[in-house]
Amino acid sequence: MSAPRKGSNTIVAKPKASPKARVRGSLLSSAEIHELFSRLRELNPHPTTELEYTTPFELLVAVILSAQATDVGVNKATRRLYPVANTPQAILALGENGLKKYIATIGLFNAKARNVIATCAILVDAYGGQVPRDRAALEALPGVGRKTANVVLNTAFGEATIAVDTHIFRVANRTGLAPGKDVRAVEDGLLKVVPAEFMHDAHHWLILHGRYVCKARRPDCPQCVIRDICRFPDKTVAGGKP
Ligand code: SF4
Repeated sequence: MSAPRKGSNTIVAKPKASPKARVRGSLLSSAEIHELFSRLRELNPHPTTELEYTTPFELLVAVILSAQATDVGVNKATRRLYPVANTPQAILALGENGLKKYIATIGLFNAKARNVIATCAILVDAYGGQVPRDRAALEALPGVGRKTANVVLNTAFGEATIAVDTHIFRVANRTGLAPGKDVRAVEDGLLKVVPAEFMHDAHHWLILHGRYVCKARRPDCPQCVIRDICRFPDKTVAGGKP
């Protein structure tokens, strides 16, 4: 993202929407935000996580394992793990060293094994082996932060939460949808500006858009369905630099 230099005469293009029409916390108007999500929905009407899971517990473990790892790498490990152990009790029975054998291909697997075992013990002791549908209870589990809790609440329990990861952070800032200096500011901004009808699926649409189109190093602006709405000043063009 480029910012105007202090003291330069750079003229920054004004957003097309009139300030009145703009949504508080966004550079886009409410009509533009609606259009942005309508287009993402048209491309992918039923988005979901790329992590493979069949129960809230499987999703919770997969998300813990996915920190600083790819979904593909996590899926490879859980495809071997879950047929053997997919409940807190069964993973506790494997033990930390037993669990490590299945997840050793994933980065930070020692710490993750420790966290998963400690989480399983709490789930068994305090929640009858179930995953609690409660933010505070989820965030109190070892290895579970706000982002993981948001993913589980949204994807396993259908709540309208938005888990801001590096992709959503980038897309929200580049487009002007919900600019913010840190992930919490972006999350709060998105919760304010995303229309209710798009709220549940917004985080999947934005993650997938950031992962495959609005990529960190070189966004694929020529192929982007929201390029006319996006406020990013350094959009790429076909065959060359912006
Ligand atoms: S136009 Fe470019 S910068 Fe804007 S959302 Fe699309 S890919 Fe990202």
